[in-house]
Amino acid sequence: MSYSQKSINKAKEKMNARRASAFSVADYRKSKLYSEYPKLEEIEKELNNIGVSTAKAVLSGKNVLEQLSKLRDKSVDLQKKYDIILNSNGYPKDYLEPHFVCEKCKDTGYYETNNKTLMCDCLKKMIISCECEELNEISPLKLSTFDSFKLSYYSDQPDAQGRVPINRMSKIFNYCREYADKFSLDSKSLLMCGATGLGKTHLSLAIANEVIQRGFSVVYVSAPDILSQLSKEQFYHQPNIDKDTFKMLLDCDLLILDDLGTEFISPYSVAAVYNIFNSRLLKSKPTIINTNYNLSELETTYSQRFMSRIMGSCDRLDFIGSDIRTKL
Ligand SMILES: [Zn+2]
Repeated sequence: MSYSQKSINKAKEKMNARRASAFSVADYRKSKLYSEYPKLEEIEKELNNIGVSTAKAVLSGKNVLEQLSKLRDKSVDLQKKYDIILNSNGYPKDYLEPHFVCEKCKDTGYYETNNKTLMCDCLKKMIISCECEELNEISPLKLSTFDSFKLSYYSDQPDAQGRVPINRMSKIFNYCREYADKFSLDSKSLLMCGATGLGKTHLSLAIANEVIQRGFSVVYVSAPDILSQLSKEQFYHQPNIDKDTFKMLLDCDLLILDDLGTEFISPYSVAAVYNIFNSRLLKSKPTIINTNYNLSELETTYSQRFMSRIMGSCDRLDFIGSDIRTKL
């Protein structure tokens, strides 16, 4: 997987800021604690002096073994005193050390193993989330919440088929909330069907909100926007070769493809939709598809092959009721 240089730089900046913040928190704690217990500062100064004396002794080139041993003993003694003051006042031994979000790389983004420098998973994750942010700029991801979803907008009167919208929507609402709470890469994909204005986008963005907060990378795109972007990259070879939208659509933990069926339908768009969904399935990555189409319209537009993939891998949520946007 290659990442865009822009996302790498952005992620490294965030990583540097994270590391700097760990140090400034440690500095702040130290100055606060030293003003309360000045003895700690004195000990630290003495320890620093011992460090200087040790270096001088070594550099003198004389036989200073005895002197070094005394300095070492003194240093161990001072360190003990320091730890006792911390401990007796209820502070853990590492209280004044910087606490990094990732102890493996100490928030540098890289770690050493077998004389090799490797990129840490935390930096990779951050780069992916920067790539997601960039993709989300195509269709700005305005996050909704479950709390702002109003079930009271749905009718409690049975429709022509005897279905009661508020009952159906409460089930869907609870399902989505649980889906977001338990989201993992093993989660199923979802197919949200139903007319415009029944809350599909709202609920899928509420899922996105929860899932992002739990540290997963999420991309929300509307089908017309992303398919026109993909076709531009495919056919017009845009100069931004740094960007590979298709790869990012496959790489994010959760992809929400909204408004499927409202894009300009062409053999290219039909193949691209299949390709995105199927490739994510092969990588065991869930996708949420929202569409105004019913199943037979989906099959007519996107092929039987696509439908059999969808039916075999998605939980289907059928939204019913009348357009709630008129009630907002
Ligand atoms: Zn790390």
